[in-house]
Amino acid sequence: MDTEEFPKLKLFITGPIYIADDIKKAALLPEFGHRDKENEKRVKPVIENLKKIAGIDEENNNSKYDLALIPGSGSNAMETSIRSIVADNDKILIVSVGAFGDLYYNIAKSSGKNVIKLKFNPGEAIDLDVLKAKMLEEKPDLVAFTHNETSTGVMHDITEVSNLIKDIGKEYDKDVYVLVDGVSIFGAIKLELEKAKVDVYSTATQKAIATDAGIGIIIFNERAKLKAENVANRGYVTDMLAHAKSAANYQILSTPNCSVINQLYVQTNKVVNDIGIEERFAKHKEMRNYTLEWAKQIQDFEPFAPENNQSVSLTCLKVPLKYKIEDLKKIKENLRAKGYLMDPGYGKMNKALAEEGKNLTLRVGHMGDITLVMLKEYLEELKIEIEALD
Ligand SMILES: *Cc1c(COP(=O)(O)O)cnc(C)c1O
Repeated sequence: MDTEEFPKLKLFITGPIYIADDIKKAALLPEFGHRDKENEKRVKPVIENLKKIAGIDEENNNSKYDLALIPGSGSNAMETSIRSIVADNDKILIVSVGAFGDLYYNIAKSSGKNVIKLKFNPGEAIDLDVLKAKMLEEKPDLVAFTHNETSTGVMHDITEVSNLIKDIGKEYDKDVYVLVDGVSIFGAIKLELEKAKVDVYSTATQKAIATDAGIGIIIFNERAKLKAENVANRGYVTDMLAHAKSAANYQILSTPNCSVINQLYVQTNKVVNDIGIEERFAKHKEMRNYTLEWAKQIQDFEPFAPENNQSVSLTCLKVPLKYKIEDLKKIKENLRAKGYLMDPGYGKMNKALAEEGKNLTLRVGHMGDITLVMLKEYLEELKIEIEALD
């Protein structure tokens, strides 16, 4: 079998991501029976550590959030939330600022839910006044939005958006449920779900947590659980209550990817006990700031996201109008030859931007175990390739 020819690339894309050697090796820890006592040895600390990363450490605060591991990935966690808490007579509003907001909408639509969408242009963040007007017009029972839109690098302050949603709901006498997709940012930024009044938060392991893919993570409060009890046809693998029951016993509803659980055991321990959660968050801010400073030195490169919404886990940059999709692909291939996997922008979005005669984008992933030193090296090489194009 010839795997020698698989090149060893450093991934600077936005997921899956670069996996550090110790985390790769953790996948080689002994396999285990997921109904055996070996399971709890791994899953209990993983759940406890993930709760700490999510800021719902029960020792320090009386937060009533459950956290469950779901076989699959982020989409599975998102679909579980939709299938479990949107009832037949509910209306859900999905607020989309890009491809992943659209994914949320498609999940709700294909689950047969009564769903409407509020869409913003690529590169824009949620305009709270527009959201307010839409909510007053449509009076939804639930609202879902994206914490960190991976296609555009737009990050939201979830406390601000969620509290606004709750306040507007009160204006039409509804205690609106808030769902958040945090797939590409969980582990890179401080979460205050209780303060933000978020009811369900969905995420995954192969982005800022930096293990392989294979497990979705869903975090939900008591209120969401009570709501789910009155929702029909939650499905089997998409039933939040079944996942909650399993998680209470440090179990996973159906057979998980045990290699990823082993990786999570090592990775979450490392983040919580060796690196430090706050230090991890600070590192991502530093990498975001560094990338934005770096971009200023390159002629006509601009952040795609508005100033107060620039993601800490990835940076999306608007490139000069003269750059075509082929140019970005050329940069990508040149960097591949140097051992890097570069991100030439979100494919579908760049194609649409090209058709409209607008500037294209490229992205720099700086999530997970990527360090500032690695990022500096990469950006230096990226700059050389950009300049070579001119
Ligand atoms: C990657 C991503 C998803 C999809 O997650 P999968 O783990 O690939 O299923 C959803 N939302 C956002 C914001 C993402 O970045």
